[in-house]
Amino acid sequence: MNVTTREDMARGAADRFFVQYGPKFGVYEFGDSRKAYDALIALGDNPSVSAVEEVCKGWTMLTCNECRRYVDAVVQVGEVPDYESDTASICQSCAHRARTLIDAVAASDTGDPGHAYTARVIHGLEKKVMAVEVTTRIRFE
Ligand SMILES: [Zn+2]
Repeated sequence: MNVTTREDMARGAADRFFVQYGPKFGVYEFGDSRKAYDALIALGDNPSVSAVEEVCKGWTMLTCNECRRYVDAVVQVGEVPDYESDTASICQSCAHRARTLIDAVAASDTGDPGHAYTARVIHGLEKKVMAVEVTTRIRFE
C-alpha cells in the first residue's frame, strides 16, 4: 500500500515515457516521441506537474478507481503497480468510505455470519453516500 501524488507522476514521467516509446522512438499522432522524451529529460529530476503536462498532456493525471474522479493523490492497494497488475487506486474520500464500511462490520460482529451483512445495510441506509453499495448488495441477494 502506498500513496502516489501528481508530483510523483511528474517525477516518473520520463522513465514511464521511455518504457512506452523507447528505445526506438518514432513519430506518432502527438508528434516525435524522441523530442518529447528529450523535453522531459530537460526538465530535470524534479519537474513540476505543469511542466510535464506541457510536454505530455495527461501524464500526471490520477484517477480514483472507485469514484472515477481525477484527484491529486491516491492510495494504491493490492499488487505492486505494473502492467495488468491487480492494483486499485482510491482517493481520500473513497478510502474514508471504505474505512467506515469495514469499521461498521467490525463493530457489529457478533459471530453470526448474517449479522455483519445486516449491519452493513443498516449503516448504508443511514449514510446516503453508501446507498449505491447497499442497492447493489440487495440486487444480488
Ligand atoms: Zn474516489
